[in-house]
Amino acid sequence: MNIVVIGAGYAGMTAALRLDRRHRITLVTADEHFTQRIRLHELAAGRPSVTVPLAELTRGTGIVTVTARVSGLDPEAKLVRTADGRKIPYDTLVYALGSRTDVSTPGVTEHAYTAETAAELRARLDSRGGDLVVVGGGLTGVELAAELAEAYPAWRVGLVTETEPGAGLSARGRDHVAGTMARLGVSGHPGARVTAVEPDRLRTTRGDIPADVVVWAGAFTVPALAAEAGLAVDERGRARVDGTLRSVSHPDVYVVGDAAAVEIPGAGVSRMSCAVGMPIAAHAADVVNARAAGRTARPFRFRYLIQCVSLGRRDGVIQLVRRDDSPLDLILAGRTAAWVKEQVCRFTLGSLRVERRRPGTYLWPKGPAPADARARGGDEPPAPPLVPEATRRSGDR
Ligand SMILES: Cc1cc2nc3c(=O)[nH]c(=O)nc-3n(C[C@H](O)[C@H](O)[C@H](O)COP(=O)(O)OP(=O)(O)OC[C@H]3O[C@@H](n4cnc5c(N)ncnc54)[C@H](O)[C@@H]3O)c2cc1C
Repeated sequence: MNIVVIGAGYAGMTAALRLDRRHRITLVTADEHFTQRIRLHELAAGRPSVTVPLAELTRGTGIVTVTARVSGLDPEAKLVRTADGRKIPYDTLVYALGSRTDVSTPGVTEHAYTAETAAELRARLDSRGGDLVVVGGGLTGVELAAELAEAYPAWRVGLVTETEPGAGLSARGRDHVAGTMARLGVSGHPGARVTAVEPDRLRTTRGDIPADVVVWAGAFTVPALAAEAGLAVDERGRARVDGTLRSVSHPDVYVVGDAAAVEIPGAGVSRMSCAVGMPIAAHAADVVNARAAGRTARPFRFRYLIQCVSLGRRDGVIQLVRRDDSPLDLILAGRTAAWVKEQVCRFTLGSLRVERRRPGTYLWPKGPAPADARARGGDEPPAPPLVPEATRRSGDR
């Protein structure tokens, strides 16, 4: 079978490496490197590199890598189109184009940095200092503010948030975040909604905030390609999939990682994160392998365990969560948490290296199977999210 995987982030790499290598596997992605996106705030703070050559991660697997930007899909003709004019045919497509920071607020594209432009941000943060303002109180914004304040003491760092920073954490978790921000000298601007970014300031619902440098860490957004190709998507443009991670509109297309809206029984729609994105991708590969071999495909099962936040290199919060991702009143904090978070980051990359050598090794925490038989492969009934979507959207994960 001819399987094409588009996107080589955590999800695309996991799927590509786990697919049965008797198939012809082609990995189409914009870059020759795998980017450890969960370390981009570290890159902004001076870490030398967060990428690994794809050639290294796919060595000896037979996976053919095509470096090209995907510009369109033609699901009827079963073709992937690239910006350099190629048309790549497939029998089965694994769509793994991920997400990126939403930059739709006026002025963000022109005047703000994001996690995606972390390398340019680092080059801008010289020793002269000034006012550096991070926008977004989700975990990504919190991580960026702490990391930058620790790495660049000459800069006065502020954090603008619509709610309390780390609003999805437990009271203990939020207290620890607040205490660390105070220790690092990060000034808070809670309750402010940014309406525009200008060259020297932020316009907010609570007045202007001066800023020499703005770092935007708002919600994640997904590429429009799935919707443009006619795949069924939700209101955020994430592809709707059945219990076996197959597009509900196009059975030859599997969608994995942030690009997929996966209904997790009892926990609502999957959070945009590696934590669930890698399991989704691994399971999709198992399903494709099973169906190709004439075996029954089982529905995806998953349970949330923790949320990890680094607060600079020596501090952090590990938030234990219920199965539905809501926080328990139980955290690890400080140096131990920073150590655990570092191990989690190493594990994500390490899992890919192990999967290259021994496909099928990667394991994840599993929750109960969907009760509804329709979730086994057909159209899933929508499950109400138990964690409010709004709590997640600022910086997602
Ligand atoms: C600073 C930061 C810290 C984070 N920390 C955590 C954390 O601690 N825990 C956690 O669980 N999550 C974390 N996340 C979220 C996590 O990074 C994402 O959820 C995860 O990367 C999603 O994986 P993915 O493979 O779906 O997408 P991505 O990692 O975004 O990969 C998408 C891939 O598709 C490629 N691509 C996109 N468009 C095209 C195109 N048109 N043509 C060709 N290729 C294309 C990209 O180049 C990339 O290779 C963090 C995110 C950020 C920004």
